Amino acid sequence: MTVTIAIASGKGGTGKTTIAANLAVALSRFGKNVIVLDADIAMANLELILGLEGKPVTLNDVLAGTADIEEAIYEGPGGVKVVPAGISLERFRRANPERLEEVLTKLNEKADILIIDCPAGLGKDALVALSAAENLIVVVNPEISSISDALKIIAVARRLETNVLGAIINRVSNDSTELSAKAIETILEIPIMGIIPEDPNVRRSAAFGEPIVLRYPDSPAAQAIMEIAAKLVGKQ
Ligand code: ADP
Ligand code: MG
Repeated sequence: MTVTIAIASGKGGTGKTTIAANLAVALSRFGKNVIVLDADIAMANLELILGLEGKPVTLNDVLAGTADIEEAIYEGPGGVKVVPAGISLERFRRANPERLEEVLTKLNEKADILIIDCPAGLGKDALVALSAAENLIVVVNPEISSISDALKIIAVARRLETNVLGAIINRVSNDSTELSAKAIETILEIPIMGIIPEDPNVRRSAAFGEPIVLRYPDSPAAQAIMEIAAKLVGKQ
C-alpha cells in the first residue's frame, strides 16, 4: 500500500514545495521508495528546486490526456522519483485537474510513500489534490494570517475525510512577534510535526536546483526536515 501525503497550506509561499521536495528526498534517504508529485500545476516549481526542469512529458500532459503517468515519472536527486507538472502555460491550459484522482490511483502501489505538493488555497485544483490524498500535512508560518488560513484547510480536509497528520511550522526565527509553537498547536488543535527555522540555505540550495538536505545537510533547515522524516518512518 502506498501512503499518500498532501502537503498543503491556505496561504501561498509558506514553504510547501520546499518541504514536499526535501521531505521526499529525506524519506528516500531512509530507504523508502518515494514519489513526489507536483499538483500545483499552475505554478509548478517542484522541478526547479529538484533540478529537473524541461522534461519532455509532465503531469500537465497526463492531465490533458495526451500521455500516460508512467511516462512522467523521473529519477530525481537522492533516489527520489519525481512527477513534474511542467512550466509550459500552453500545456497547462489543456490540463484537466479532475483527472488527478485517477492519476493518483494509478500511482498507488508504485511507491511506499507518495508526497503531493499542493497548490495554495481552496481552488478546484487544491480540492482535488486534498480529497485524493489519504493524509494531510499543513505547512504554516508563525503568523496569525497563516494560521487562520490553515484552519480552513484543516476543516475542508476533515469534510473530505482526509486524515490530518499535523502541521509543520516553517520559517521560524524566534522573533518576539511570532506565534509560539504552543500557541499554534492550541489554535489548530493538531500535532506539531516539526519546526523549520528561517534559513538562507533554503534559497541558496534552490538557486542550485538541489534539495537542501543534500546540498547543505548540516544546515538548520535540512536538519529539521531530516528529523521530521525520521519521525515519519519511526526511526527516532
Ligand atoms: P510554497 O510552495 O508554499 O509557495 P515555497 O516552498 O516555494 O513555498 O517557498 C516560498 C519561498 O520561501 C521560496 O523562495 C523559498 O526559498 C523560501 N523559503 C521556504 N522555506 C524557507 C526557510 N525555512 N527559510 C528561508 N526561506 C524559505
Ligand atoms: Mg509551491
